[in-house]
Amino acid sequence: MTKSISCKDAGKDCGWVGSALTEKELMEKVMKHVKAEHKEIELTSANIDSIKSLIRET
Ligand SMILES: [Zn+2]
Repeated sequence: MTKSISCKDAGKDCGWVGSALTEKELMEKVMKHVKAEHKEIELTSANIDSIKSLIRET
């Protein structure tokens, strides 16, 4: 099982897709991407929870 997330699912005009085997690893990739490309997104715990709700398992 792979966990994945894409910026498109979050309504962003961005083609980034991240995937990892664990949620922890995936969230680390998401944080890095958000800090690099989406500086307007504040990584509050509420926002992190809503990002986590977009994770898909494939
Ligand atoms: Zn993005």
